[in-house]
Amino acid sequence: MTSIYNFSAGPAALPSDVRQQIKNELDNWQNTGTSVMEVSHRSPEFKALMAENEVLLRDLLNISDAYATLLIPGGAQLQYAMLPMNLSAPDRTTIYHVNGYWGSLAYREAQRFSQIHITTAPPVIPYQPQYSLGYYDPQSLPTDADYFHYTSNETLEGIQWHHLPDSQGVPLCCDMTSDLITRQIDVNDYGMIYASAQKNLGIAGLTLVIIRKDLIGQHQQQLPALMDYQTYFDHHSAYNTPPTFVWYVMSLVLKWCQQQGGLKAIQAANQEKSQKLYDFIDNSQFYNNRVEHDIRSEVNVPFMLKNDSLNEVFLAQSSAAGLKALKGHKAIGGMRASIYNALPLAGVEALIDFMYEFEKDHA
Ligand SMILES: *Cc1c(COP(=O)(O)O)cnc(C)c1O
Repeated sequence: MTSIYNFSAGPAALPSDVRQQIKNELDNWQNTGTSVMEVSHRSPEFKALMAENEVLLRDLLNISDAYATLLIPGGAQLQYAMLPMNLSAPDRTTIYHVNGYWGSLAYREAQRFSQIHITTAPPVIPYQPQYSLGYYDPQSLPTDADYFHYTSNETLEGIQWHHLPDSQGVPLCCDMTSDLITRQIDVNDYGMIYASAQKNLGIAGLTLVIIRKDLIGQHQQQLPALMDYQTYFDHHSAYNTPPTFVWYVMSLVLKWCQQQGGLKAIQAANQEKSQKLYDFIDNSQFYNNRVEHDIRSEVNVPFMLKNDSLNEVFLAQSSAAGLKALKGHKAIGGMRASIYNALPLAGVEALIDFMYEFEKDHA
């Protein structure tokens, strides 16, 4: 049987060890005699899992006591609304830096809840792909803004920040949905970080929010309880019934990350994988990637075939060869290999081998 490698951008591949463990303990989790899906979130077993999950997160990301970790249902896009509702107000200013698809959606949603200073030209509809980090003059930022929002890795375009944007001291809030846990960061650089789980933290259903505790509960508005960070903070993210299975998978993924050697080792592995793939693409006359070298993503690698009319053949043959979900997002076109933590080096090597053979047959 040929190995199957899943290059999906999200929901993305899980580590195969994690899938196996889910299977092994599905019928009898922690000697409860039932599956984890059927256990109360108030039970001692599940409470222990919740506590352990927090320890794993704090350990992996080196999160200090000054920060809270919240797990909130609804996906990353719910945070596009919750963030301005909680940290700003309709008569207050926030800064949005938009250099890609997800950033443009975050900007559009936040317009309902805050006065926005956008650092670049407002995005147009239909969306036009961007291929730079976007220039702005830090001296022109309103320094009384509540926060500065950006997207550390633009998943569609394959563009990643490898340094911090200059926010002139305004707290940085960052959508890290596609690159949290894929490299080392210093949480202390941020006011708030969020990432939905289905890329590198497990499966869809929860979004991890890491937030400086002094930023919680400062809003002046009446918010629904389940839209208020304070509620999640006060109730350890279990005010109402959380998606327990999602939480369980996250804890398995975090343990797997620890077994890989933590974020330093994971980052090195991701750099090796992405470098191999970019090197191959750059040395080819048949494939290309249009992103400048110093802003390329280490986890999402879009590439185009020189001849667009071969796209469908490429996708059909790669899928038949066990290389799944390589189609690029429709806003960008072409192909995209998402090579998150769970996609092993062997998968990247199999992709390169396939691309090499495909080029030989079609060049
Ligand atoms: C996938 C993705 C999202 C969308 O997340 P949902 O959980 O589906 O709302 C947002 N931002 C980035 C950077 C992403 O990669």
